[in-house]
Amino acid sequence: MAKVVIIGAGGVGTVVAHKCAQHPEVFTEIVIASRTRSKCDAIVEAIGKPNISSDVVDADSVPQLVELFNRHKPELVINVALPYQDLTIMDACLICGVNYLDTANYEPKDVAHFEYSWQWAYKQRFEEAGLTAILGCGFDPGVSGVFTAYAAKHYFSDMQYLDIVDCNGGDHGKAFATNFNPEINIREITQNGRYYQDGKWVTTGPLEIHKTLTYPNIGERESYLLYHEELESLVKNYPSIKRARFWMTFGQEYLTHLRVIQNIGMARIDEVDYNGQKIVPLQFLKAVLPNPQDLGENYHGETSIGCRIEGLDKEGKHLTYYIWNNCSHEAAYKETGMQAVSYTTGVPAMVGAMMFLTGKWVKPGVNNVEEFDPDPFLAELAKDGLPWNEEFNLNLEVNE
Ligand code: NDP
Repeated sequence: MAKVVIIGAGGVGTVVAHKCAQHPEVFTEIVIASRTRSKCDAIVEAIGKPNISSDVVDADSVPQLVELFNRHKPELVINVALPYQDLTIMDACLICGVNYLDTANYEPKDVAHFEYSWQWAYKQRFEEAGLTAILGCGFDPGVSGVFTAYAAKHYFSDMQYLDIVDCNGGDHGKAFATNFNPEINIREITQNGRYYQDGKWVTTGPLEIHKTLTYPNIGERESYLLYHEELESLVKNYPSIKRARFWMTFGQEYLTHLRVIQNIGMARIDEVDYNGQKIVPLQFLKAVLPNPQDLGENYHGETSIGCRIEGLDKEGKHLTYYIWNNCSHEAAYKETGMQAVSYTTGVPAMVGAMMFLTGKWVKPGVNNVEEFDPDPFLAELAKDGLPWNEEFNLNLEVNE
């Protein structure tokens, strides 16, 4: 049916490539391109199918991206490189007439600042070019927005309180490691927390607010309020929401390491002089931390990510609702060689690409996932390794 180019050959790129290759009827040709060609070659070899090949690109360079796209003429690019490359890839898409999908919003390298404004500014240009851009199509952002859209479509007339809850109940056996790119991950969680309440954003100290939440099949875990990018688009697209928050679990051991890393300056993202060379401490730290892609082999346990929602149902009666997915690290590793955090990001990226290529999610412009029909996406997601569950009228815990 169509050719896709995947950019990025990390944990998430590996899963996207495996999952696309499982659907040759949709993804007739797949090219995986990254900065380091050997990583792409290793993925191509592991998949071992004739319709997948590798290439190389520095996605910070628009001319290199334009050459890549002109060489392969893809219908869609799946961007699973780093958030720093979102805008250059979108620029090249406009030049070459390629549709676009990513899993994380643009961040400038020199300041950890998360907002959609940079990418939303491309809306008119994508509309005029007749191209579809799908933003934030991993799990969170991604499935978290589709879950919310599903709840709004089928159950709520007035969605008032939204809490996205993200638990990693797994254990990789290392003293400290991050589950996806350490630089991106540590930038995100060391920021101030932020949530939306009655039309305003409320700022908190980093990880200042926390409470114990119970996760299905995992149990109680301490959960910390963070700012997460999908909150920005969800409160815009669902104006009835009075309060929107995001929670993520962390263990005490992880938090202690994180505090030390910050206190000794290793989380800094500005350049420092080292032996006459400029280095960014957080980038150096990434080089010595365990590679998230190597965690899979000894990872046990599950992730559990979902939305807890309260409001009025279609008849105007009070309703509480929880929709979630649990994903086993072992099962993810068995299928793709990657742990569940990469798996839960890569599978939705493939499903979003499939929705576009099969004509179900086509909308020229720049769109967040909740702006599309959630039904075909969630049906496919369940078939592709991420089945989901829902429960009604329960104690959501988040309001206690
Ligand atoms: P990794 O660090 O494992 O992989 C990133 C890949 O991008 C590497 O192959 C790297 O290449 C490549 N890359 C980096 N810079 C460039 C560049 N300038 N040009 C070409 N390729 C480049 O990250 P992950 O796989 O863990 O994460 C990928 C993305 O997924 C990130 O944007 C992350 O924020 C997002 N994510 C989203 C989640 C969600 O639920 N929405 C959850 C988890 C992650 P090389 O190795 O050669 O340097």
